[in-house]
Amino acid sequence: MAEKQLLLEVVTPDRKVLATDADVVVCPGVEGQFGVLIGHVPFLSALEIGEMYYKLGGKTEYLFINGGFAEVTGAKVTIVAESAEMGKEIDVERARRAKERAEQRLAKAKTEAIDWTRAEAAMRRSLMRMKVAGR
Ligand code: ATP
Repeated sequence: MAEKQLLLEVVTPDRKVLATDADVVVCPGVEGQFGVLIGHVPFLSALEIGEMYYKLGGKTEYLFINGGFAEVTGAKVTIVAESAEMGKEIDVERARRAKERAEQRLAKAKTEAIDWTRAEAAMRRSLMRMKVAGR
């Protein structure tokens, strides 16, 4: 019998965040958001800091993804991210504090040399975590 659902795995260097069946998976690719349905051609894509979601039986679950890669092979989608959390795992207060720190760092850029790329990425992570937590 043909397989009807995808298997989705999200892993980070620290842990397995999620392993689930899914009807569709949508990811934040560096060249734009992309969706995967069963039977998708195999491919590999780099991911942005962003949100991903999957649908299963009419229910949608959102996750924060801190960059990485998505590999699609047959019926399986594997996400390997620098860090990732399910929406319900996100500590909003922590994300708010991270945003404040990033704002303070970026504000210093007028008068001193800062690592702009790093501060800007921290800002994007915090904003995206707050967005995903609010889903
Ligand atoms: P912070 O400065 O608060 O550590 P960060 O963006 O630098 O934020 P990451 O390097 O992305 O953090 O992640 C480090 C670890 O902490 C990962 O395991 C990640 O899942 C977790 N983490 C970071 N922020 C949060 C959050 N707001 N809620 C839950 N887990 C978080």
